[in-house]
Amino acid sequence: MGWTEQYKKAVTFSYDDGVAQDLRLLEIFNRYGMKATFNLNTGLNAENGSWVYMGKEVKRLNLAEHIKTYEGHEIAVHTRTHPNLLEVDDVTFDREIREDAEEIERLFGRKPVGMAYPYGTYSDEIIAKLPAYGIQYSRSVWQNHDFALQDNLLAFRPTCHHDDEALFDLAERFLAMEPDTPQIFYIWGHAYEFDGKENWDRIEKLCQKLAGRNDIFYGTNAEVLL
Ligand SMILES: [Zn+2]
Repeated sequence: MGWTEQYKKAVTFSYDDGVAQDLRLLEIFNRYGMKATFNLNTGLNAENGSWVYMGKEVKRLNLAEHIKTYEGHEIAVHTRTHPNLLEVDDVTFDREIREDAEEIERLFGRKPVGMAYPYGTYSDEIIAKLPAYGIQYSRSVWQNHDFALQDNLLAFRPTCHHDDEALFDLAERFLAMEPDTPQIFYIWGHAYEFDGKENWDRIEKLCQKLAGRNDIFYGTNAEVLL
């Protein structure tokens, strides 16, 4: 958390699944100087991982073709094939985490230190296993509408999802704060949700609001949390 020497506030984003809509989201983040973490399933690609969300087709990316596109952002583990980790045996668990981490390192040239739980599910047993894979933080989906630092980084709670009706109120509150202790505004979601709900303007508006402040550190999840 080197940023706390210079700043008291940080903004970070977390987006899952490595889908085609990440490309549009990355363009927006880059235009506003936002930093994000993308949680990728390296065992899935455009051929075997598509589905329909609110009438729109969602396709996973062939990640090897998009190494440069994700440059400047963090790539983190989301397991190899996106199982519910509460339902897999030990051997599968090991493969899902280890092989995703190894493939991320091979593709992006950096060993991942973070993760997001597929479906947001985890247990104390799962948490206990993660450090052995080099995982130092892992995001849940239990939003807390809060900005305070958290003790348990392996069950990290985001401030809110981008579709949360409190999103812009939280943004206003965060911008107005003059805190004595470090505060983190952490937003998560899936880029395909913007297509399905036809609300790309929402992220555009949020980035516009949050961008260009000299009292805010814009960093990836690892840069902000560790
Ligand atoms: Zn996911």
